[in-house]
Amino acid sequence: MAGAKRSVEESGLRTFGFALAFFAVTSLTIYSTRFSGGLALVWFGTAILAALLVNVPPRAWPRTVIFFASLSICATTLFGFGPHAAIPLALVNMCEATLIAALLVRLRPERDYFENWSGFVKLILIGGIVGPALASLPGGGLVAAEVGGAWRYHSVEWFAGHGLGTLLALPLALLLARGRPGGLMRLRTPRGWWEFAGLSLACVGVAFLAFYQTTYPALFLPILPLMVACFRFGRIGASVAVLLTALVASASLIADAGPFAALPVALAEKALFLQFYLVVVLLASLPVATALKHREILHANILHREALQRMISDHSDDALLSLDEAGRIRFASPASMRLSGADDLEGLHLSIFFDDADASLIADALAQARAAPGVTKVVERPVAKGGETVWLEAKVRAVEGGQTVPGSYVITVRDVTVRKEEELQAMRDACTDPLTGLPNRRAFLKELEPALAGADERPFSLAIIDLDHFKTVNDRYGHDVGDLVLKHVARIMKRLSNDECFFARLGGEEFGMIGRHEAITASAEVCERLREAINENQIRDADGGMFGVSASIGLAHLREPCSATLALQTADSPLYSAKAAGRNRVHVAQGPLGWKYRAEGTRDRHRLLQCV
Ligand code: GH3
Ligand code: MG
Ligand code: MG
Repeated sequence: MAGAKRSVEESGLRTFGFALAFFAVTSLTIYSTRFSGGLALVWFGTAILAALLVNVPPRAWPRTVIFFASLSICATTLFGFGPHAAIPLALVNMCEATLIAALLVRLRPERDYFENWSGFVKLILIGGIVGPALASLPGGGLVAAEVGGAWRYHSVEWFAGHGLGTLLALPLALLLARGRPGGLMRLRTPRGWWEFAGLSLACVGVAFLAFYQTTYPALFLPILPLMVACFRFGRIGASVAVLLTALVASASLIADAGPFAALPVALAEKALFLQFYLVVVLLASLPVATALKHREILHANILHREALQRMISDHSDDALLSLDEAGRIRFASPASMRLSGADDLEGLHLSIFFDDADASLIADALAQARAAPGVTKVVERPVAKGGETVWLEAKVRAVEGGQTVPGSYVITVRDVTVRKEEELQAMRDACTDPLTGLPNRRAFLKELEPALAGADERPFSLAIIDLDHFKTVNDRYGHDVGDLVLKHVARIMKRLSNDECFFARLGGEEFGMIGRHEAITASAEVCERLREAINENQIRDADGGMFGVSASIGLAHLREPCSATLALQTADSPLYSAKAAGRNRVHVAQGPLGWKYRAEGTRDRHRLLQCV
């Protein structure tokens, strides 16, 4: 509420200030620049009112226009054509200002007339040409009726005076009406005020030099303080400097001094030349100020982003890094020290975060990122730290145009140990049989497929182990005891597992073994030991009684690549024959789908080994 009240007060104050300026400036120009009893040489009133209208809400327009119309009538009555012409002239003046304001708001709702070219061009066209041109028709007619002479002549006079005045005053008036113009920031300090006053004085002094003597051609001189004003105080500096220059130039004409007064033409034409000169000066300086403002906005954006980046980098748990093209660290956020364990990272290579063995992998990642700027390359590696393993993830991106800007790579390094362990656990779970803890069928196939692919170079054995009459075990002792049997069998298999022997539960009471022994005899011997161990193992039933189970095993030796299905069928075949032959035995297949050798209990092991 307090804020709203303050803004109402502020806008009332602004309207009052603009009204005062309107009355003073219009009265002064009417009083001092109506050379031939006609129109004023230059008319700033339209700019003042249009700038105010652009910055007040549309509902306030009618009362603002009526207020300013009454001021215009007063000024014309007191200092100009007198009371009879004051009302129609005020009407045309008000229409001109309202039209300019309406077009400016309509065609540029963002009101960013100085922030970019499109806005600036619209400002010049609407304020300097369209508005004054349209108003010059009725305006010229009114003046012709009042002082005589050609309508066309007075229309041109109107267009020149109002066009120039609006062009000169509209930028400054708009900036002031909007409040807090950027260039005035420097005026907050006394030093700024001194500088502003000094520059204004320089503008006036140089303008006197240029416009009050004809000995030296110095019309180009006013450009210098103008440009300095542009650079030091932006658009507002440029606007004030142009205005001051225009005032001194106009005064020189009134005083009949200087190069414009010396022109061998009528006074009205001298005034036209001067106006043309001032428009050129204005159009040369304001675009510079606009371009500067554009840069200022860009610079502010950069500062804003930098602050944001610093905020993120200071408080992020991730390391944020900037690297030069050689991969050396130029900037490292605070989290980088914790993740890398180094106190000072500047100049070190990114691989400092990782184990020495991964150095070439990191170099490759940087090279790949460099080959595709803007694309993020992700590297995840385990790192040994104080006896533990942590997983670090580096996201690497090369900066486009990185050869010319500092920091050729931007990188984040994050500790992803928790996620990685969850992933690994999920992978382990997906490959583990929950009842027995043995690898499951999926894990078995994952081992089997690459082994089969290289079977011609590295033959191996595949066994299928199936418990005998397991359905009867379940039926007799119950399902829980059946489960216990499966766990017992799995424990035996885990005992026999090593680098050469991989066991898995394929499903139900069926297990698989991959034997990477060079000779099938070795695999057959493992199978035989397994069969014996299963057979000798005693299990306690629910009543405390002991019982045992047996297993039949089909074993195949695989020497050529084939599908997993065919390989399993190859081992299935001797398994069936082992079942058919009375169970509790190992049968060995020779080649796909055939079997030749058998071993039945320990008695036959010698024979089996000999035959193979
Ligand atoms: P064979 O000697 O011919 O192999 O006879 P079998 O009874 O072992 O074979 P069958 O395929 O007829 O029966 C397999 C049984 O295994 C049937 C099913 O109840 C049992 N079974 C499968 N999975 C599990 C399990 O996870 N737990 C228990 N307790 N039993 C299971
Ligand atoms: Mg069975
Ligand atoms: Mg079975």
